[in-house]
Amino acid sequence: MPIEKTLSIIKPDATKRNLTGLINAKFEKSGLKIIAQKRLQLTRSMAEKFYEVHKDRPFYNDLIDFMISGPVVVQVLQGENAVKLNRIIMGATNPEEAEEGTIRNEFAESIEANSVHGSDSLENANAEITFFFANIELI
Ligand code: ADP
Ligand code: MG
Repeated sequence: MPIEKTLSIIKPDATKRNLTGLINAKFEKSGLKIIAQKRLQLTRSMAEKFYEVHKDRPFYNDLIDFMISGPVVVQVLQGENAVKLNRIIMGATNPEEAEEGTIRNEFAESIEANSVHGSDSLENANAEITFFFANIELI
């Protein structure tokens, strides 16, 4: 299987509850390596740009408010099939539908405050990684 990189974001609901380490442990236990990581306060314009694909969805404005409501941890995860594997570790968008043992099943507060973001395709992963990181930051 190919070695891939994917972008992950630990969202404000999770950083507020000090869950960064527990979430990172799930990635590492599943064989994903955290090859870059930084804690940021997103500005409104950064969050709007990052979630631009959702700008016509009814939840867009609330999502932006939520994403800037506290710090996030942006990170690059690397491993075999990293894009799909991370989506499995995260669980479904709606925590009520997320499988047992997934991050969203264990930690999410709601369909909006669902603790993590993960890229949904290799193409989007590359674009999202470039949004937050320079190549020399990926170790
Ligand atoms: P995912 O994060 O699983 O890829 P989407 O890309 O569809 O999900 O949505 C992006 C984010 O928008 C979700 O993670 C969640 O925070 C929020 N969101 C999605 N659907 C809803 C909804 N129906 N109501 C409120 N917030 C939502
Ligand atoms: Mg998505």
